[in-house]
Amino acid sequence: MEEPSRDITAAPARQPWWSRPDARVAALSLLVGLAAVVSTAALAAGGVALPQGAMGQFGLPGLVLLFAVTEGFAIHLRVRRGGHALSLTEIPMVLALLSLDPTIAVLARVTGGGAGLLLLRRQRGAKLGFNLALIGVQSAVAAAVFGALGDAAPQLTLRVWLASYAAMLLADMAAVVLVTAAISLHDDPGEWRRLPAAMRGVPLVAIGTTIALVSGLAVERNHWAALLLAIVSVVLFLAYRAYLAQHQGHAQVDQLYAFTRALDGTDDTDDLVRVILGQARDQLRAEHAELVVLPGDGQPARRTTMSGPVGTITQSLERAPEYAWWTPALAGQAVLDPVLAGESGGGMAVPVPLGEVNGALIVSGCLPDIGGFDSDGLRLFQALANHASVSLAKASLVDRLRQEAEEKEYLALHDPLTGLPNRRLFQGLLDAALDAARHDDNGPAVILLDLDRFKEVNDALGHDTGDAVLGEVSTRLQERIGTRGRVARLGGDEFALLLPRVHSIEEALSVGGDIARELERPVQLGPLSLNARASIGIAVAPVHGDDTQTLLRRADVAMYAAKGSRTGLRVYLPEDDQNTPHRLALITDLRETIRRRDLLVVFQPKLDPHTGAVTGAEALARWHHPEHGNIPPDQFIPLAEHSGLVRPLTLHVLEVALRRCAAWRRAGHDLHVAVNLSPNSLLDPSLPDLVSRLLSQTGTPASALTLEITESTIMADQEGSLATLNRLNELGVKLSIDDFGTGYSSLGRLRELPIHEVKIDKSFVQRIAIDHRDRAVVRSAVQLGHALDLEVVAEGVEDQDTYNYLAREGCNIVQGYLISRPLPPDEFSAWLSNRAAGNVIHQRFSA
Ligand code: C2E
Ligand code: CA
Ligand code: CA
Repeated sequence: MEEPSRDITAAPARQPWWSRPDARVAALSLLVGLAAVVSTAALAAGGVALPQGAMGQFGLPGLVLLFAVTEGFAIHLRVRRGGHALSLTEIPMVLALLSLDPTIAVLARVTGGGAGLLLLRRQRGAKLGFNLALIGVQSAVAAAVFGALGDAAPQLTLRVWLASYAAMLLADMAAVVLVTAAISLHDDPGEWRRLPAAMRGVPLVAIGTTIALVSGLAVERNHWAALLLAIVSVVLFLAYRAYLAQHQGHAQVDQLYAFTRALDGTDDTDDLVRVILGQARDQLRAEHAELVVLPGDGQPARRTTMSGPVGTITQSLERAPEYAWWTPALAGQAVLDPVLAGESGGGMAVPVPLGEVNGALIVSGCLPDIGGFDSDGLRLFQALANHASVSLAKASLVDRLRQEAEEKEYLALHDPLTGLPNRRLFQGLLDAALDAARHDDNGPAVILLDLDRFKEVNDALGHDTGDAVLGEVSTRLQERIGTRGRVARLGGDEFALLLPRVHSIEEALSVGGDIARELERPVQLGPLSLNARASIGIAVAPVHGDDTQTLLRRADVAMYAAKGSRTGLRVYLPEDDQNTPHRLALITDLRETIRRRDLLVVFQPKLDPHTGAVTGAEALARWHHPEHGNIPPDQFIPLAEHSGLVRPLTLHVLEVALRRCAAWRRAGHDLHVAVNLSPNSLLDPSLPDLVSRLLSQTGTPASALTLEITESTIMADQEGSLATLNRLNELGVKLSIDDFGTGYSSLGRLRELPIHEVKIDKSFVQRIAIDHRDRAVVRSAVQLGHALDLEVVAEGVEDQDTYNYLAREGCNIVQGYLISRPLPPDEFSAWLSNRAAGNVIHQRFSA
């Protein structure tokens, strides 16, 4: 037995009897049956005149048999939501009216027809009850009409003919109305709309009636004529059935087509199941339709059932029953069970293969208007199931594809590491925020932040550490911002915040300040304490732009300005914008200045604090702009880097420095010169050759040249940079790590690099006098350098205490304002001569 299902959707409740279709049809059957009995009784009491005579030869048993056969072999037309039963019962009915007492005729029809339904069509229960009542009323109507219109003459007069036609037509009309009533009560109140269409089948009764009348006439002459007419009737019946079968075939093709079309529009699995069940119910005139899917692996079966006038869907998950009449369908075998479980009106089940999964489509409870499920219906059902199977397979495919697409979409819009929106989604969010703020003075703000020196963390401590820092930053940003805005990771170490609506630039600035403070707390990773400080740039709509691209670009400009200026936080200013006309004009001017060799080079001396001897000088570029005055290298070097001018700039400085150095050496000063390299210079593979050529052109020994490369550049480990360093080293050029202490040097990499010198960053050196931690950094840097056999240089030496401290710690070379500011070449030469004359700082201060 089937297990009770856990009903997911329908709420069980006590409902009045008329809410059940079966009960309504039963009530109708009862009424109709009552009407049949009453009218038959009235016929008997009324004593209607009868045409007694030749007709008597047909005999009661023969007529009952004819009723049973014609009723049992009725042909059922199944057209969508409208069935019509065609039988040749008119023949025995007319014969019965012509030959029998009307009451007897009615009883004979009910008895014979009932036997046909019961034995040949295997009808039972409510359906049989309704059909019996229907037959009763139908024949009572026929008898009454015939009795009223016919005459008592023993011959078949014209009047008798007309009475027969009228009786059969009216009886059939009554039947059509009652069937429509039954369907509308049982299944679909809209059935009444199809009444006119159903009525169009009524004139067909004229065929049977005519045959009956001709039979009657022939039999009057010769009893054997009945045999001839029987042959004609059977042939006619068969021909008719063949025609109808073909017609039915076309109808089925139409139905299949309608079904396929209905399936086509749907690719959501739930909708599809609904369409399939609805169509199965419609096409097969069934009360219930059900889809059972058995996933296997002991998982519960999923059963989706549709029933009731409006097609209520019920879903249940339950263990598949051990055996039900439809279980063979799950194993691939179609089942036709016309007398299923008493009154349910039969059932059919067909397999629905769903890839690895077994499924079955089941219909049961065929509507009262058709004879019951038959092999034609089963064939149609199988065809439907095949289509359903293809569509379901496609739909789960579509479902899967959609799911994949959604995942892809998510991936396409989110950063996998932090789960934050990525640049694309951020732009979308900004678009939307800008749209929402159109015609409004208060627009969204974009806050961009870029972690300072994140790349070095990554390179020195590994990607896992880098990822952990990014994760921590992401968490902190989200916690800080909360519901005020959205956080996104634009890529690498770049994050963005969107504040959908700010009332002033100050408001955005205050949020930026919050963020900056939040990131000042070091990130603790186990024993490591890392700095995740960021440079923050802000642009606010509509002041700084009212479209996504402009806002993002300007926030970016502000962020770079924040990095350069080291204020850490900056709102967009037009003068920071690289692409402003001002900036573009500057680039043109710089290019021209370099080309004309008008870029100045100044020299800042370096000396040995232990001997006071000048050992060399660092060459520093200077740009005196005719309109804007002196432009500091902090500004024009990045400009050169952004506009492809770094190479000519470096070569120019290098050439000037080497020429000067050669001149000093010729003048008897054993000095070296240090030249700064830009981060990207190491990526230029032709650099060693150019350096080599300039060395020989100027006649400077390679050992007299030091190239200073910032710690972050040298640690970045970019492709090819090590090769360049090695080739420079092979030339005999010295290499120095500039700004040492500000990056994250890894000891391993320091050992591996061909370097000769570390240059402790002035930010530590300048604070030696005031901050013991910076003193510790300097001391350990000196020790580290010596441990690696490197010269240790301190830059930014501004006072004597610092100088003394460095000397005590064993620093090899010092450089700074205390000794001298960077000097133009001629002044440098003068300064050198001056020192040679004995005015030595070393002697003055530290003797
Ligand atoms: P840097 O290589 O670290 O150069 C040292 C900077 O510190 C110079 O600033 C110098 O004037 C300054 N300085 C020297 N002694 C002291 C001191 O005692 N106290 C203070 N506060 N500062 C001192 P400058 O010339 O403005 O150069 C800034 C940066 O520009 C340089 O930093 C270097 O990175 C870059 N730069 C300068 N010239 C060139 C060049 O020819 N090529 C490249 N690629 N970069 C250059
Ligand atoms: Ca330097
Ligand atoms: Ca430096």
